[in-house]
Amino acid sequence: MSTVNSLRELLIDEIRDIYDAEKQLLKALPKMARAATNEDLKKGFTSHLEETKNHVVRLEEIFEKLGVPARGKSCKAMDGLVAEGEEAIDLEGPDAIRDACLIGAAQRVEHYEMAAYGTARNFAEVVGEAEVVELLQATLDEEKQTDKILTELSNSVNEDANMLVPEKEDVD
Ligand code: FE
Ligand code: FE
Repeated sequence: MSTVNSLRELLIDEIRDIYDAEKQLLKALPKMARAATNEDLKKGFTSHLEETKNHVVRLEEIFEKLGVPARGKSCKAMDGLVAEGEEAIDLEGPDAIRDACLIGAAQRVEHYEMAAYGTARNFAEVVGEAEVVELLQATLDEEKQTDKILTELSNSVNEDANMLVPEKEDVD
């Protein structure tokens, strides 16, 4: 149980959560890139990794602005999302289906990040941390852009997956 006594402290708590989430992604994304078969999807995961590195650096800048040490607290949401990513990596069956599953996992991650950064940005706004608002907004805009790219990519990936017509549906 933790005690949080002010919105400023809640902002710091949220930033710590996001810091851990981004760091989990640093480990998960290379595995997802390796598992992807579609070349554009592979590239998408690799560029998301580069972006994530920048997000970690930006969060460290935010900790500095807030005058607290950069440290994470376990993000349970990202724990679960990464576990689902692992399930996608291990999915047996045609490559195109695994790619469709991987892109779904990636979009869930992206949407979580957008929600978390949006929440933190709003806290920062209310407590009057203008510079922190700007930094969080910059990352939020990048997360939204990545989500847009993933959405476009999913159209072609899903079309490829749908080209496969099994002789008999094997759903259990
Ligand atoms: Fe990010
Ligand atoms: Fe979280």
